[in-house]
Amino acid sequence: MVKDILESVRDVNLYINGSFVAASSGKSFENINPFTNETINHIAEGDSADIDEAVLAAKTAFKGEWGQMKVKERLSFIYKIADLIDEHIHEIAPLESYDTGLPISQTKKMVARAAQNFRFYAEMVSSRLVGDTYPVDDEFLNYTIHKPVGVAGLITPWNAPFMLETWKIAPALATGNTVILKPAEWSPLTANRLAEIIDQAGLPKGVFNVVHGFGETAGASLVAHPDVQLISFTGETTTGSEIMRNGADTLKRFSMELGGKSPIIVFDDADFDRALDACTWGIFSFNGERCTANSRLFIHEEIYDAFVAALKERVDNIIVGDPLDEGTQVGPLAHKTHYNRVKSYLDIAKEEGCEVYSGQVPESFSTGNYVAPTLLLGADNKMRIAQEEIFGPVMTVIPFKDEEEVVEKANDIRYGLAGYVWTKDIQRGHRVAQAVDAGMLWVNSQNVRDLRTPFGGSKHSGIGREGGYYAFEFYTEQQVIHVALGEHHIPQFGKKK
Ligand code: NAD
Repeated sequence: MVKDILESVRDVNLYINGSFVAASSGKSFENINPFTNETINHIAEGDSADIDEAVLAAKTAFKGEWGQMKVKERLSFIYKIADLIDEHIHEIAPLESYDTGLPISQTKKMVARAAQNFRFYAEMVSSRLVGDTYPVDDEFLNYTIHKPVGVAGLITPWNAPFMLETWKIAPALATGNTVILKPAEWSPLTANRLAEIIDQAGLPKGVFNVVHGFGETAGASLVAHPDVQLISFTGETTTGSEIMRNGADTLKRFSMELGGKSPIIVFDDADFDRALDACTWGIFSFNGERCTANSRLFIHEEIYDAFVAALKERVDNIIVGDPLDEGTQVGPLAHKTHYNRVKSYLDIAKEEGCEVYSGQVPESFSTGNYVAPTLLLGADNKMRIAQEEIFGPVMTVIPFKDEEEVVEKANDIRYGLAGYVWTKDIQRGHRVAQAVDAGMLWVNSQNVRDLRTPFGGSKHSGIGREGGYYAFEFYTEQQVIHVALGEHHIPQFGKKK
C-alpha cells in the first residue's frame, strides 16, 4: 500500500482560489528524496505574481462568504478538515517520511496531532473566543470583541512540516481569517496533500491558498505585500530578523517561532533511567531536527561517567534505518545542504577539543543524508558546538558541579526556547525551572505538550506565543465598544449660555 502511495506522487501545483495551478512563470523546482537523493517530483515555483493572485483571492474571500459566515458553520469546516486528516493518516504519514526522512512511526503521531490541532482550535473558538465587559456604574457599559484580522501569511519550516503548518492554519481559519501558506521548499508533499484535503472539505474559494516556492522570492513577496496583515513564521532566527525588516514598511503583525539550543539539566538525585530515556528521546527523535530538542546536556559531575556510559550504549543501539520502516528510530536528514551543515559541526567539535562519539550508519544507506546519533563529550558552554543550533542528532554534553553554576551556564546563550530539569528535590525542580530563561520548561518530564498552554520562546527563540487562547492575541483584532447608558456629562463648547 505504501508503495502505491509513493508511486502515485505527481508533480505539485500551487493552490490558489480553489484551483490547482502552475506557477505563472511556468517554472518549477526539483523535490529530492533524502533517503536516496533522487528526484521525487517537481514543484511549481511560485513568485510575486502568484502571491499577488493568492492575496487577491484571500482578500476577496475574507470580504465575502467566509467573512460573513456564522461561526458555527465556519467551525464545521474546521472539524471536517480534522476528520479528513484522520481518515488519511496512513497515506499522509508515508508521504511525510518520504519527503523529509522522518521515521514513519513518528510521522504517524505528527499527522494525528495535526488533526487534533484543527479540533482543538474549533473547540477553543467556540468556548474561549470571548470578550470582557467593563461596567462603569450606571453610566457606561464598555466591552471588547475579537475580530479576525484579514489575510494571514503563514511561513513554515521543513522539520515537522505537516504538524507545524496545521498548528498555524487551524487557529488562523478557526478565528475567521483567510490564509496563504508558503511551505518550506524541502518538504512540499504534505502541504499539497493538505490543500487537497481542504479542497475536499469544501471551504469557499480563496479561503485557503498554498504558494510553493523559495523564501527569498515567494516568501519575501508575501511578507512585503500590503494586503497581508499578519505573518506567522517558524524557522531560523536569522530568517526571522530578515522577515521583520522586510515587513516593517507595511507594519506587519508578527509571530516568531525561532531556533533553540535547549538545556537539559540532570542532577545527581534524578531518576537515572527516566532521565536517560527522556534525554535520548529528546535529542534523537525527529532525527534531531526538533526546535525544542535538548541539544545541551548538563550532567552533574557525580553521575557524569555513569550517565555518559549509558548514553553511549543507547547511541550504539539506536536503530538507524529507512524512514519508511516501522522499526526505524533515526532516519536521514531532510536535505543534503543541511546534512553538510550538521556534519561540519562534528569537525568543529574536534577542533574545539571534544570527544566525538557516534553510533553507526549501516553501509547500505550510503546514498542517504545520514548522520549517526552523536555525543560531543567533554564540552564547554563557551564552545561553538554549545552555543549554535546544530539541528541534527547531535548532543553537546557538559559536566557541572552545583545549581548556581548550571543555571548560569544554561542561561549563557542567545536562545530561550525550552528547558528540562531532572531532580527528585521538588523545591530545586521548581527553583531551577523558574531560573532558566526560556519560554517552556519541563520538570522530570520529556516534552509532553498541553495544547492549552502558551507555546513559544524568549530571547532569540521567538516573539509571541502560539497555543491555547494565546493564539487569539495574534490572529484576532481586539475592538473595544464604549456604550453610554445614561446622560453623562459632555462639555458644551461654543454653546451660548
Ligand atoms: P528557514 O528559516 O531557513 O526557513 C523557514 C521558512 O522561511 C521556509 O519556508 C523558507 O522558504 C522561508 N524563508 C526563508 N527566507 C525567507 C525570507 N527572506 N522571507 C520569507 N520567507 C523566507 O528555517 P528552516 O531551516 O526551514 O527550519 C529550521 C529552523 O526552524 C530551526 O532554526 C528551528 O529551530 C526552527 N524551528 C522553530 C520552531 C519553534 O517553534 N520555535 C519549530 C520548528 C522549527
